[in-house]
Amino acid sequence: MLNITPVPAFSDNYIWMLSREGSKLVALVDPGDKARILDYLQQKQLVPVAVLITHQHYDHTGGVAALVDKYTGLRIIAPDRLPSGSPLSIDLPITEYITERVADGDEVEIAELGIRFNVLGIPGHTLDHLAYFGHGMVFCGDTIFGCGCGRLFSGSAAQMAASMTKLSSLPADTRVYCAHEYTLDNIGFARWVEPDNADLLQRDADDMAKQEKGMPTIPSTLALELKTNPFMRYRIPAVKQAAEKFAGKKLNTDAEVFAAIRRWKDTEYD
Ligand SMILES: [Zn+2]
Repeated sequence: MLNITPVPAFSDNYIWMLSREGSKLVALVDPGDKARILDYLQQKQLVPVAVLITHQHYDHTGGVAALVDKYTGLRIIAPDRLPSGSPLSIDLPITEYITERVADGDEVEIAELGIRFNVLGIPGHTLDHLAYFGHGMVFCGDTIFGCGCGRLFSGSAAQMAASMTKLSSLPADTRVYCAHEYTLDNIGFARWVEPDNADLLQRDADDMAKQEKGMPTIPSTLALELKTNPFMRYRIPAVKQAAEKFAGKKLNTDAEVFAAIRRWKDTEYD
């Protein structure tokens, strides 16, 4: 069985670790926190064989150099479009460490763990952003969050809306592994958008109970996101109406509705 373990990092990141029972070999998704991941691997006597990077931000890539330094032959699999320079202070150049660059439509195989992922291009949060999908799971970095989505840095609202539509077409029971624990905060905003959504109120109670027990709210499922996440529900009439009320005008496209909801959260909620 493939085990997925969250390694909590920084204040609210998750580094996802993929492992098999009885093996010390692991794969890591977005090991941004150098001290945390080195310490964790050392303590558990685990050996990483591959790293999957979803996008360029430092809180997803910050551990790469130190891991490459320590673990010989470690594969670093990263977006084809990951910039080589550092246009934003939030970026960390890791191009010298990348062993494989992948893009939408590619497949990634990690034979040691019996893993095969399809690579999906999901620009919006950043232009280089990828998701890794397979084995009933999607690792989506900062694109879908629990009941929310990442901010728009280098991508546009139209790109992010299209990426949300693309992720929506995955099987409904897909487990969604995002990179931050933001769910309860996001639910607060989702309730502004859809105060009468019964699934959302139920999710609020369920996720609150998990957090009170110290459990992560992640992974969620795609089905749950489609029922509760306002950033994936821009075609639902109640969501569109709420977005139009905020914007003070009629909104005609998915991208316009998405952009209004994003702006609403950025300017009035966060
Ligand atoms: Zn990011």
